[in-house]
Amino acid sequence: MDAISYERAPDAAAAIRSASQPGAVFIGGGTNLLDLMKGGVARPLKLVDITHIDGLERISPLPDGGLRIGALARNSDAANHAWVRERYPLLSQALLAGASAQLRNMATVGGNLMQRTRCYYFYDTAFPQCNKRNPGSGCAALEGNNRIHAILGASTQCIATNPSDMSVALAALDAVVRVAGPRGERAIPFSEFHRLPGERPDLDTTLQPGELITSVDLPPPLFAEHSKYLKVRDRASYAFALVSVAAALQMDGGTVKTARIALGGVAHKPWRATETERMLTGQPLSRATLQSAAALAVREAKPYRENGFKVELAQRAIVRAVEQAGGVA
Ligand code: SF4
Repeated sequence: MDAISYERAPDAAAAIRSASQPGAVFIGGGTNLLDLMKGGVARPLKLVDITHIDGLERISPLPDGGLRIGALARNSDAANHAWVRERYPLLSQALLAGASAQLRNMATVGGNLMQRTRCYYFYDTAFPQCNKRNPGSGCAALEGNNRIHAILGASTQCIATNPSDMSVALAALDAVVRVAGPRGERAIPFSEFHRLPGERPDLDTTLQPGELITSVDLPPPLFAEHSKYLKVRDRASYAFALVSVAAALQMDGGTVKTARIALGGVAHKPWRATETERMLTGQPLSRATLQSAAALAVREAKPYRENGFKVELAQRAIVRAVEQAGGVA
């Protein structure tokens, strides 16, 4: 059994100082980290408890009309907050689609951003081959069981998917992740927060050592009237997405003025379907146009032995989600 030290950080500066030490990690709700530690997948030397840092749990309006969600806001509090429900229903739906009520009561928004893949081989230390867990060891999923794995943006090093529902909605909403670290504060556009695996699948995000997520900032709401989070999974609750779609539209009568579409369950990060968005812009929401636009989203798809079904499923899910967002289904 490994010795682990524990420290309760009184403020962000102290937390950042402590987490800059080798082997130190932040712990908030701990819903993913403790599982990883119990399975021997994560072996931190020090836990820096950030749950007593004042103010990081707040959800508050921004001067530009947007909304700041503190990194320590619980998933359930964020999902059920009146402003989130009214102004960003897409985010509320995505949060409520994730995990169980008990987990949502414990898990934080910052932790949700940091949750790790549910690849079977990543969690099972009996398998030595996992580049994400053990860099340079190979990828057991490439030739193994890969039903839940990526069809877009993967590499020969890793074909894992990001499991977060919340992050798919945040990608569609163009959120910004605010962080503080040893070199000060910075704002990371959501599209640059999670990474594709490339040659470094052990790195899930672009966070630098010691950086603490302080909030997720949402731009002013544009899509409250026309949005939909659609999650397709093996069972109706407490399951990760095989494919999910966050669809957000601005409509001008029956015509799409702006479209934002992000996919979950298909890549190492939430996947923005930018070509689909472009094709839909300025078009009426006809089934034929939607099917053509959805096909663009998977044009570069590379399925593996067990997950070819995701190519068709993603297209159908896009069509369904956009139709529901636009009120034509
Ligand atoms: Fe590990 Fe990624 Fe391969 Fe899964 S897909 S076994 S996480 S390297």
